[in-house]
Amino acid sequence: MLKGIAASSGVATSKVYKLQKPVLEVTHEKGSVEDEIYLFESALQRTQKDIELVKVKAVGRLSDDELAIFDAHLAVTTDPELHDQIKGLIDSGESASSAVDQVKTMFVSMFESMDDEYFRERAADIKDVTYRLLAHTLGVAVPDLSLINEQVIVVAHDLTPSDTAQLDKQFIKGFATEIGGRTSHSAIMARSLEIPAVVGITGVLDEVKHGDMLVLDALEGVVIVNPTDEQMNLYGQKEVEYAEYRESLKTLKDAPSKSKDGHEVELSGNIGTPKDVEGVLENGGDGIGLYRTEFLYMDATSLPTEDEQYEAYKSVLESMDQKLVVIRTLDIGGDKELSYLKFPEEMNPFLGYRAIRLCLDRTDIFRTQLRALLRASVYGNLAIMFPMVATLEEFREAKAILMDEKDNLTKEGVQVSDSIQVGIMIEIPAAAVNARNLAKEADFFSIGTNDLIQYTMAADRMNQKVSYLYQPYNPSILRLIKMAIDGAHAEGKWCGMCGEMAGEAKAVPVLLGLGLDEFSMSATSILPARKMLTSLDYTEMQGLAAKALECGTEAEVIALIDEAIADAQ
Ligand code: PEP
Ligand code: MG
Repeated sequence: MLKGIAASSGVATSKVYKLQKPVLEVTHEKGSVEDEIYLFESALQRTQKDIELVKVKAVGRLSDDELAIFDAHLAVTTDPELHDQIKGLIDSGESASSAVDQVKTMFVSMFESMDDEYFRERAADIKDVTYRLLAHTLGVAVPDLSLINEQVIVVAHDLTPSDTAQLDKQFIKGFATEIGGRTSHSAIMARSLEIPAVVGITGVLDEVKHGDMLVLDALEGVVIVNPTDEQMNLYGQKEVEYAEYRESLKTLKDAPSKSKDGHEVELSGNIGTPKDVEGVLENGGDGIGLYRTEFLYMDATSLPTEDEQYEAYKSVLESMDQKLVVIRTLDIGGDKELSYLKFPEEMNPFLGYRAIRLCLDRTDIFRTQLRALLRASVYGNLAIMFPMVATLEEFREAKAILMDEKDNLTKEGVQVSDSIQVGIMIEIPAAAVNARNLAKEADFFSIGTNDLIQYTMAADRMNQKVSYLYQPYNPSILRLIKMAIDGAHAEGKWCGMCGEMAGEAKAVPVLLGLGLDEFSMSATSILPARKMLTSLDYTEMQGLAAKALECGTEAEVIALIDEAIADAQ
């Protein structure tokens, strides 16, 4: 049994397809410059043909968005910079393969070292395309996953973007790789294809032979090579049960978000772009609990205009019909930078000039966003939420600017909705502690546990070394959550949560018991959360929450929750 990271849930048992790509040995033997240029150009044509063929095979299996990867790959093959550099090296006496290899290394390391995550991801595309190109200059065949026509589990060192795009669900029951993490490209693709995957299994290639039997348990993140008959039966059963579980989730798509004893909450989706709304609706979301608008700013090369923002907000509101859409104003700074807006260098960016602090300073940027939101408000059920509020004064100031822009628009004869809710993200401990007073002036709260935990535990959420302190179930965190919820309720307001904790099915019992009104999470977590919710009794969970608050450690809380879940099943 080998351990890795469960990257895409599911269980599969099947034969191994061991994907081993030939190691390409660059040759320095060469013909004339013309011969080498010809070799490069014909290799380039073959590479383009390969990509077009793979794309044709994938049509119908992949969405338009996923198919776009092949256009990105074709774009790499036609990049004039790439051609010029390779030809330049051939001119100066290199063989075609050596020239391709050198330019490949240079481009890949250039993209891998870029600050922008988007460009870093493109490095995988460039690696993928130039590998094929190099193989063709050397006359070496690259294995073709799209030719697989029997049921297998693919085992590989890593899967490139074009490898994953070639996986046909009909035959590929799952995959296991030696490298990668939950957010690596192959993991994301596996989740979108709904193929079970375990990644980051050190040494798995040395442990399997082509045709071996394999159990892939992508719920626990393990693989078993050549399992016993007993293990085969056990995991075969687990596979059937998991398939039944997924089926049973589908029936919950239109079900109410209610506990067994009828206590109703909202299970909503977190989105980053208007495109994400589709996933929330497909998964039966009750609304949008967090629209992170910073992506509108981060995906641009200059500040988005009022009209551009208006179009984005309007589209989300319209697609959600009259369901509540909570749009968060710009939360930039900390780890989220804008290439076109220079911030001062800070010793502690996470404790610095960010989110509402920046907006209250750069009111020009803030007012543009608020006007876009107000104009869009007539197209649906809008709530506006301010991030990183620490004090009541900050909230008052932000709200005053909002009201000022509302007046301006009304005077200009522009229609604005009268029922916009205005809320606060509770993600700074000071706000949780002062929740009762904040609730007097806010319409709602949404708890941002990602930041609330980092600030409460004084542990940088990006720092692996202190990640053991990311403890959502720590009694200190639960007490702050309770303060936020109780503060809101005492003033007749509602309290939601949009941090990652809200999307953990395991967190539902205790959060329900604490009285949370709305849980907002990534689209794929909604149905598992609803399944958990419908199995629980609200009054019993109130008892569980009271006990959890009295615990001394996170481990004790988790043990209580596990027990409650086992009892409910
Ligand atoms: C949070 O802090 O929990 C949150 C939802 O905001 P973000 O993750 O965007 O900082
Ligand atoms: Mg936050």
